[in-house]
Amino acid sequence: MPIVNAIAATSATEPLIRTTIERREVGPSDVLIEIAYSGICHSDIHTVRGEWGQITYPQVVGHEIVGTVSEIGSDVTLHKVGDRVGVGCMVNSCRECVNCLSGDEQYCLKGNTGTYTSVDRDGSITQGGYSTHIVVVEDFVLRVPESIPFESAAPLLCAGVTTYSPLAHWNAGPGKKVAVVGMGGLGHMAVKIAHAMGAEVTVLSQSLSKQEDGLRLGADHYYATSDPATFENLASSFDLIINSVSALIDINAYLSLLRLDGTLVSVGAPPEPLPVQAFTLFNNRRSFAGSGIGSISETQEMLDFCAEHGIAPETEMVTADEVNEAYERVLKSDVRYRFVIDIATLA
Ligand code: NAP
Ligand code: ZN
Ligand code: ZN
Repeated sequence: MPIVNAIAATSATEPLIRTTIERREVGPSDVLIEIAYSGICHSDIHTVRGEWGQITYPQVVGHEIVGTVSEIGSDVTLHKVGDRVGVGCMVNSCRECVNCLSGDEQYCLKGNTGTYTSVDRDGSITQGGYSTHIVVVEDFVLRVPESIPFESAAPLLCAGVTTYSPLAHWNAGPGKKVAVVGMGGLGHMAVKIAHAMGAEVTVLSQSLSKQEDGLRLGADHYYATSDPATFENLASSFDLIINSVSALIDINAYLSLLRLDGTLVSVGAPPEPLPVQAFTLFNNRRSFAGSGIGSISETQEMLDFCAEHGIAPETEMVTADEVNEAYERVLKSDVRYRFVIDIATLA
């Protein structure tokens, strides 16, 4: 089995280290990808630090992957050697359940096979994109349009689709007031995509320190949630709120900003529960919803949408040796707006 370079977590508390892992041989339906860039998602940090539950170490994370196809299996028809491709948060699903059959394989009833920490079909634990190569079944591999700069495309594979999916599902568009809570990796993509869909976009950030950026990325308004006046002034005003915060927040305060029949969708995944007051939902017949990544077809739709609208993530490139430092900066909300690992530095 091919041995490849990778960056792995060895425990919940120690820094990630350089190591090697095994990838499976390329099967008839598989594509071997030489990874060029790998984004750092806050989910990677929740995962390696055991915040979502215990995992098996060593573990390689990373589910925002772009690279070039370097080998294909005998039955592969969707990709060819040399293609620019991407892999997001899942690498397979059961393909039989009602959700898989309806094209919502991210909600596979048996659990989709995550790009990392999942049990793969051969019984091994899947290892993610902080590595030089990955082998993935062809229909879970996306085409990355030529017009999207390769160095900044990787975050679309998670941050892009995770925000595109609820924005599309809850019909963000002209005449709709959309608020984005938290302007980090997911949040900044939500701003760009909601703006491109034609919605009126408001950022609700902890402070005004990123206001100029928010307005440049497409927001129409920007408010600090540290200012209590924000919640008074914006009461009952939004059709849709996308909460991208990685930590516990007072969710009722944000729900109170929804107008009649408005929906707050949490994509942020703090380890703690978000307690909701029934009366906050009764008022204005509000809905509190969640949304997990997006389907493969939706991911392709999002990539094509971003190409059409000239959207790319705002990224800061780091080397393989700077990943631990990048994690610390993400935890301090000091990310502008997604770290991407230059996998060439891991070779
Ligand atoms: P990120 O880059 O760290 O962004 C999170 C943002 O939340 C920060 O930039 C900050 O924005 C705000 N924030 C952080 N701590 C806060 C606090 N204590 N109070 C208020 N606001 C705070 O993280 P990310 O990669 O975008 O991921 C965000 C969350 O989504 C994570 O929990 C991640 O696991 C989850 N996620 C879910 C899915 C899904 O399928 N649903 C997919 C990917 C990620 P401001 O500085 O602007 O306030
Ligand atoms: Zn992610
Ligand atoms: Zn399924």
